[in-house]
Amino acid sequence: MHTQVAILGAGPAGLVLSHLLSLHRVESIVLETKSRAYVESRIRAGVLEHGTAQLLCETGVGERLKNQGMRHEGINLGFSGVLHHINFAQLTGKAITVYGQHEVVKDLIAARTSSGGQILFEVADVSIDALSTNRPRVRFRHQGENRELTSDWLAGCDGSHGVSRTSLPPGALRIFEKTYPFGWLGILAEAAPSWEELIYSHHEDGFALFSMRSPSITRLYLQCKPDEDLTKWTDERIWENLERRLSFPGDKKVRQGRILQKGVTAMRSFAVEPMQYGRLFLVGDAAHVVPATGAKGMNLAVSDAWCLSRALDNFYSEGRTDLLESYSERCLRRVWKAQRFSWWMTSLLHRFDVNDAFELRRQLAELDYLGRKLCWSFLGG
Ligand SMILES: Cc1cc2nc3c(=O)[nH]c(=O)nc-3n(C[C@H](O)[C@H](O)[C@H](O)COP(=O)(O)OP(=O)(O)OC[C@H]3O[C@@H](n4cnc5c(N)ncnc54)[C@H](O)[C@@H]3O)c2cc1C
Repeated sequence: MHTQVAILGAGPAGLVLSHLLSLHRVESIVLETKSRAYVESRIRAGVLEHGTAQLLCETGVGERLKNQGMRHEGINLGFSGVLHHINFAQLTGKAITVYGQHEVVKDLIAARTSSGGQILFEVADVSIDALSTNRPRVRFRHQGENRELTSDWLAGCDGSHGVSRTSLPPGALRIFEKTYPFGWLGILAEAAPSWEELIYSHHEDGFALFSMRSPSITRLYLQCKPDEDLTKWTDERIWENLERRLSFPGDKKVRQGRILQKGVTAMRSFAVEPMQYGRLFLVGDAAHVVPATGAKGMNLAVSDAWCLSRALDNFYSEGRTDLLESYSERCLRRVWKAQRFSWWMTSLLHRFDVNDAFELRRQLAELDYLGRKLCWSFLGG
């Protein structure tokens, strides 16, 4: 089998890339280790930045997003028991859309399959080679048979644990990494959201995030240990902690409901340079991971995919290679800005050491300063 662009991974990065390439009439085949049902129900991110929502809508995969996505013009920062609203629309003229990553994935798979796109689900034993030649190769098993796919270009969109990055020779990439001494315990609950917008809550017991996925489903997070034992977290204990960390006297209370899903996600900042090796391009989480506090991961994956699709379109339509050559450099400029923002939000809102009283006061002073600065900018100061 041969195609112009072989894509490993049917997450947001791989699917957006395949979708955009098809609009430019560039052929691609997507290989995915999990089943279609699995990727379409995997609960992860849910905040689409203005540019991501606009790209999906403008390229014909935004119908459900327009109808079901929840437009939020701002967020709330909670600290010292008070909510402070940050109005993005007034500050920047832009808004965010709350729409689950798995819904984005469903829309993209539907678009690809209905236009004859090839996505092979449940592939196994994936390996890649010949990356420095003009015929990179992927070997894999599918439906019990050994298969081989050659391509002009290979896109590694296989997430942070995929094979594309880890198959490269030692020294090919420079790795930058930071781990945090905490993780997030996330739940999905059958409960109508109590507040209309997200709340990022700083609390002396640890950070909490109130968010939602739909008018009847709430998504909530609690700062926890990175290796937290979920069996120690009964539903009562989770709700009791959420109520305490999301308590703003005189305001609403977090609404409880049946917990549909629980999980622990570690917090990590990770990036590799460059995001290219021979004819392999790393896209999305395969190249960088940000702590979820800044809600940047899926948005970065989509912008990498957009950048690569443009470069490949230029190659096939005009024979130009300059955008392919500068792909890594252009993406990394944005990646490092997102890394800085995600690190800053994480450092500002989490307790690194519950015994560090100085750090607690410093964070509160910074939050107070931030609140006042944003109020000044509303007034044009
Ligand atoms: C557990 C988890 C929870 C998260 N929660 C949040 C959150 O709450 N909020 C937030 O803002 N962000 C969150 N993120 C980040 C966000 O979801 C990611 O940034 C986003 O999924 C990146 O998209 P991607 O397409 O690059 O990678 P992925 O979505 O990881 O997609 C990679 C795909 O490649 C497939 N794959 C893996 N190996 C192979 C292989 N060898 N061959 C073929 N296919 C392969 C995988 O099955 C997967 O479908 C979370 C990430 C993770 C991992």
